[in-house]
Amino acid sequence: MENGAARTAQPVIVAIDGPAGTGKSSTSKAVAAQLGLSYLDTGAQYRAITWWMVNNGIDLDDPSAIAAMAGKPEIISGTDPAEPTIAVDGLDVSGPIRTQEVSSKVSAVSAVPEVRTRITELQRSLATSAEKGIVVEGRDIGTTVLPDADLKIFLTASPEARAARRSGELKGSDVNATREALIKRDAADSSRKASPLAKADDAVEVDTTELTLAQVIECVVTLVEEKRAAK
Ligand code: C5P
Repeated sequence: MENGAARTAQPVIVAIDGPAGTGKSSTSKAVAAQLGLSYLDTGAQYRAITWWMVNNGIDLDDPSAIAAMAGKPEIISGTDPAEPTIAVDGLDVSGPIRTQEVSSKVSAVSAVPEVRTRITELQRSLATSAEKGIVVEGRDIGTTVLPDADLKIFLTASPEARAARRSGELKGSDVNATREALIKRDAADSSRKASPLAKADDAVEVDTTELTLAQVIECVVTLVEEKRAAK
């Protein structure tokens, strides 16, 4: 309250980027829930289009075949951080998009410019229609999708910490194999021509290697609140 009048909170747009296993999803969901914001998992969108390509027998070694089909599937993301959803052509694919097959193929699909253009349009439209604001997590949100975001965070962690976290999530999977798969996927995502995984110049880098999830969440919530107060 200021001068006895309630101030209407301005929507706030937060971009959280970084490689796999840095705690992006857990952090982004918790920050959004705590601050009453929407939440968008852009990796889930790329996984969903990859799942559709695999299911429809598209040759993933042929970028032109992927490009030709990029506009076909209807992809709908639910942005409630308490229950984010992802559907392709009306089908809930939240389980199938997390398989190892999709994880190993998603970089080939996400590198195709026509796919990125399509998915980026969806992302921008969801971000601009979020009434109270949104936390958007991905690889190129601060650099390409939402370059005017109010706050940009780039999460990092050592490869060992990232592999250990991801193996914990995938219960019982081999840490070394997980580490190799993560490194391979990051290398592909960082070296592609179309909007690669990169830290925006004005992003705040947070190394989560030695931090608990609660500490990372607290750090990001504080940064968002500072930005909100300054708006
Ligand atoms: O975040 P997640 O690991 O689920 O992302 C899966 C893949 O989606 C990434 O490895 C990357 O190829 C692609 N991706 C992307 N741009 C984003 C988010 C994800 O290219 N903004």
